[in-house]
Amino acid sequence: MREELRPYIPMTVAVSKYRTPEEILARYNEGYRLFAENRVQELLKRVSIPMEGVKWHLIGHLQSNKVRSVLPYVELIHSVDSEKLLRLIDREAARIGKTQSVLIQVNVAKEDTKFGISAEELIPFIKKCEDLEHVSIEGIMVIGPHTDNKEEIRRVFREGRRLFEEGFTLRQNNVRWKTLSMGMSSDWKIAVEEGSTLLRLGRILFTEEDPQDI
Ligand SMILES: *Cc1c(COP(=O)(O)O)cnc(C)c1O
Repeated sequence: MREELRPYIPMTVAVSKYRTPEEILARYNEGYRLFAENRVQELLKRVSIPMEGVKWHLIGHLQSNKVRSVLPYVELIHSVDSEKLLRLIDREAARIGKTQSVLIQVNVAKEDTKFGISAEELIPFIKKCEDLEHVSIEGIMVIGPHTDNKEEIRRVFREGRRLFEEGFTLRQNNVRWKTLSMGMSSDWKIAVEEGSTLLRLGRILFTEEDPQDI
């Protein structure tokens, strides 16, 4: 069945960490409208760059004490990794009259250094959060393993897609399932082949490196 899937062309969020405002504006002028930072402090600096129609995503670990400062500025948080954090986001979103879109970060690669909940926990975790009325749970973020082994990367991404498809069976008011955030500069081609719907691309958008060589 997998073999019959044609690669779907995903959306791209431009990961602007370490870049100057000029570099970010250059991507904006080329047409990019989704930008992401992995740190709240950096995101808060960048949201003031005047770019009409741009939406900001947070893709890095979110500490509880940063929720309040970042929420007004962020369209999508990719990195929700605990019930405590999701409850905090919900409470803060209620306070400012917002429904916050989030993805759950799943540690499919099972690397110790990575944040994220385990694959087995995903569905129970979401069901436990059924009572939250100010979050919109829209999918998952998967980070590929730190390796050059393409088969290993593919295995992780295939598992990510399988988990994503499981999510479509959820019937829950705060679930609007649609996004599989998977693939960065080093592994985006495999992510596309395995069914990503949103790529997070930094280096290959901002440097002269030929994407074909990565
Ligand atoms: C930095 C980062 C990216 C982008 O990485 P590149 O290799 O520059 O494409 C994607 N996702 C996360 C979570 C990141 O921190």
